[in-house]
Amino acid sequence: MSITLPEVLIIQPLMPQLDEKLTQHFHCHRLYEYADPALFLQRQGKSIQAIVTRGDVGVENTLLEQLPACKAIAVFGVGTDRIDLSTTKARQIQVSITKNILTDDVADLALGLTLAFSRKLLQYDQFARSGQWETQGPVLSSKVSGKKLGIAGLGAIGLAIARRAEAFGMEVAYTARSAKTTPYRRCDNLEQLAAFSDFLVLALPGSAENQHIVDRNVLKALGADGVLINVARGNVVNEADLITALQQGVIKGAALDVYPQEPVINPALRQLENVILMPHIASATFETREQMANNVLENLLSYFSTGKIISPA
Ligand code: NAP
Repeated sequence: MSITLPEVLIIQPLMPQLDEKLTQHFHCHRLYEYADPALFLQRQGKSIQAIVTRGDVGVENTLLEQLPACKAIAVFGVGTDRIDLSTTKARQIQVSITKNILTDDVADLALGLTLAFSRKLLQYDQFARSGQWETQGPVLSSKVSGKKLGIAGLGAIGLAIARRAEAFGMEVAYTARSAKTTPYRRCDNLEQLAAFSDFLVLALPGSAENQHIVDRNVLKALGADGVLINVARGNVVNEADLITALQQGVIKGAALDVYPQEPVINPALRQLENVILMPHIASATFETREQMANNVLENLLSYFSTGKIISPA
């Protein structure tokens, strides 16, 4: 007796362990492997019941239109900025995210970058490695304790960043759309938060409303002693304004994990010495990625056995 497995579409490559797990339970179609994806969708789109995608990839509405039977999307990540949630809601498509799994790692990176920038960790490594120490003493760096850290977006990640910053003796303030019950000071808008901050950390979604929310005015308010840390999404920052601000000393520096055109990084950014560049690795630990993979599988198994996903967006 042959068993018919649910048909699942994988849009972009996933980590191999997750791909293997999915293959054990579902009939997986990998869109990126088809020479003619349009032809595949035309012939078999109607039989696809669920999608697996990554936060940085999302799902285009034009693709969803070709999958009339699709009723579940499992996202490997927490960002839903590349999925039109009003369309999924209207079509009663359930969207799952890997909620509460990567929060600590992203917050760790935000604080790691704050420390790395302030304490010149990358420069000191270069200084020691190159043998320069044999002929001269190292320059001084700046303390983080006692400094002000502003968090744009006090959600799960923002709050985890706040707690870590507090433990480092930093003063914390934030912006969010709605008031939160926290001991931290709330600023009315991003410019006010930037003016408060020595370190302005972005932890808000890259939704359409937040596109380029960090512009020349916010950077001017952050000022010549301020540092921008972006662990959110590249589109939240107006990159041209950021590059100008970094080149002209409008702000002191930046540490970035995310970019508008990943994996391509603007060459102007790569040439600057007052930036730390990470290749979008905030959640890239063995432990977290394994839990994220399990979450995607569990959401789909739950959907196909009970009709409900377990960690909705
Ligand atoms: P979350 O719990 O939904 O929190 C998002 C917060 O942002 C909410 O508090 C929300 O306010 C606030 N917000 C939204 N728009 C805002 C605005 N215009 N001004 C001020 N605050 C605003 O999400 P999360 O789990 O913390 O994740 C945050 C984002 O981090 C994700 O959307 C994703 O893009 C990014 N991320 C990046 C990585 C990485 O690898 N670098 C990994 C994971 C996540 P309200 O509570 O009032 O709605």
